[in-house]
Amino acid sequence: MSQPRSLYIHVPFCAHRCGYCDFTLVAGKDHLAEKYLDALTLEIDRELQRIDKSDSAAHPNPELDTVFFGGGTPTQLSAQQLERLCEIVHDRFQLTAETEFSVEANPARMTDDRIAVLSDAGVNRISLGVQSFDDATLTMLERDHRRADVFDCVDRIRKRIENISLDLIFAVPGQSLALWESTLQTAIDLSPTHLSTYGLTFEKGTAFWTRREKGELPQAAEDLERQMYEVAMSKLAAHDFDQYEISSFARPGFRCRHNQIYWSGKTYFGFGPGAASLMNNERRQNHRSVTTWINKVLAGESAIGEVEELDPKSFARELLVLSLRTNDGVTRKTFHEQTGFDIANLAGESINRLMDQGLIQEVDSTIRLTYEGRFLADTVAGELL
Ligand code: SF4
Repeated sequence: MSQPRSLYIHVPFCAHRCGYCDFTLVAGKDHLAEKYLDALTLEIDRELQRIDKSDSAAHPNPELDTVFFGGGTPTQLSAQQLERLCEIVHDRFQLTAETEFSVEANPARMTDDRIAVLSDAGVNRISLGVQSFDDATLTMLERDHRRADVFDCVDRIRKRIENISLDLIFAVPGQSLALWESTLQTAIDLSPTHLSTYGLTFEKGTAFWTRREKGELPQAAEDLERQMYEVAMSKLAAHDFDQYEISSFARPGFRCRHNQIYWSGKTYFGFGPGAASLMNNERRQNHRSVTTWINKVLAGESAIGEVEELDPKSFARELLVLSLRTNDGVTRKTFHEQTGFDIANLAGESINRLMDQGLIQEVDSTIRLTYEGRFLADTVAGELL
């Protein structure tokens, strides 16, 4: 595996944990931010020293094609802390004019000083957690911004950073199809370069899961959720958004390059609590507890929670599943060149079964999900893994 040219940094702070969220984060503990940044600096330095020792050909300051700050809420950090975070990256990696530098942002926290710091540091793509333009839906989701904040914040970001992606959630309890359509239309009217749409999931351990189990929170009916996804696909296609992955829609030239790294099986660095990295034929995931991660790194101990050695066959199967998430699909020849495996030998029977079920199709040696398959992508993944 080649040295990564992509970097993910997990920023684990939020003002409040939303009822549906099971991400790695701490809520209301901003006082840990400086310690987090100290630990992050140490973690990156150690990893780069390790690479330097084990690979004499490796550059001590690797050049990056993509950088992504995700969370949590990166913009929960103050402007000064964001500046420090960007400096940590710039001091240790080489970013070029071509590097895609994305930051996830919360509309309630995107103040002008934060926007200025990010833009000055070369951030050229903002992924804004809008989720809805309906205040009642935002309240249901326990988000801390309101519809008006989104318009205001998009205007202010655009003065410095033009490439803006919006995240939206559908199948929220109480959300009608008409309301979802109007949410999509409002998003389109804002002219973002990219949209991501996700159906609300109820994850075990979240407050929403408990409330649903107690009968306090009705989950959207399956056929309504399907209709909502259908409407998203047709409406966005009609407005020149290319659906290039199950949940991702981009105007021409604005696919998220960082996410495409994950789906193409390329290597990447990951730092911060819960962050995953892929390199040296292994996938590593850091401790998910923010305080454990901070304490371990600051004590000079390893912050890695799990290491999975990727044998070639498992890696190939995983790549097959990830590639099928994309609308470009997977080409037999390219797959063989990248993994050394023939798709027919690796998963021929499953592929045939999924084709018989109408969930995948093959055109000119390229296999991809059918329209129906996009609704059942998890079933396809389960069959292939
Ligand atoms: S703002 Fe995002 S990351 Fe933070 S708790 Fe809410 S859903 Fe989770």
